[in-house]
Amino acid sequence: MKAFVLDHAASAEDAVHSLQSGAVAIAGGTNLVDLMKLQIAAPDRVISIRRTELGEITPEGEGLRVGALVTNADCAADMRVRENWPLLAKAILAGASPQLRNRATTGGNLCQRTRCGYFYDTTQACNKREPGSGCAARNGFNRIHAVLGTSDSCIATYPGDMAVAMLALDAVVLVEGASGAREIPIAEFHRMPGDDPSRDNTLEPGELITAVRLPAPTGGVQIYRKVRDRASYAFALVSVAVDLTMDQGRIARCALAFGSLGTVPWRDLAVEQVLIGEKPSPSLYAKAAEVLLKDAHGFGANDFKIPLVARALAATLNEATQTGKA
Ligand code: SF4
Repeated sequence: MKAFVLDHAASAEDAVHSLQSGAVAIAGGTNLVDLMKLQIAAPDRVISIRRTELGEITPEGEGLRVGALVTNADCAADMRVRENWPLLAKAILAGASPQLRNRATTGGNLCQRTRCGYFYDTTQACNKREPGSGCAARNGFNRIHAVLGTSDSCIATYPGDMAVAMLALDAVVLVEGASGAREIPIAEFHRMPGDDPSRDNTLEPGELITAVRLPAPTGGVQIYRKVRDRASYAFALVSVAVDLTMDQGRIARCALAFGSLGTVPWRDLAVEQVLIGEKPSPSLYAKAAEVLLKDAHGFGANDFKIPLVARALAATLNEATQTGKA
């Protein structure tokens, strides 16, 4: 690991100040430290935000403000989250291990980088790590890679669970930078690779995530289904997050998001439109999957994700509509 200077920010304002002068923020360090060990990230100065005020969960209107420093474990255990936004708690608990969830934070989780093996192998071509070097995954071992939102430059998935739930819940990411505070709807936070996969999100240089705001609870049935190679401590092959309300045997409201399917946490409002107002049935679920996957494209080893997510979607919708039967 390259030598670096570690400072502690006393407040978010203090941290933003350090970021403006080129420091890199660290909270739990569950991804950044790995990247630094491999020198994929080699900052001269690291600013810890662990002593700032960002570790609180507080009510905001009818919603909830989850500070950037709130650990995944604390967020998933919070009774307000469990009762009103259970999808978020379920998605967090489906991710990583208890040890990692005790360290990983809300802000850091949103900024975690891909788990593409070629990104972490510095002997391989990777446009995300080294722009212009190529993409070893396209013709390599791409079983965990994306089938939606890919580009010639990069086919890596966003690997997390928490952000997938937040996307279905219409969360908003709150950030602070040199020019003040701004809000980013989570649907606009992660960035598709296009011809510049080196940037994973729409944070501007020097900006810090301060919190995530959850809007008022919907009261719907909320389910997170994660399909993976083993039952714990594994990234998703595909995941489905649903928040759904039934009314007189029909789907009255439905929000759906998908993990490890696209290059970003994936939501397609056209899929939800297929479902809303309809009576649940296997043929309706198949129609929704068809709309979801109309532009899906596999790269060989990950072709299986296309039928897999169709089945996962059907199973999730079946469970949600049965549970929520009015
Ligand atoms: Fe790098 Fe993206 Fe290609 Fe993986 S898929 S090797 S992260 S460019």
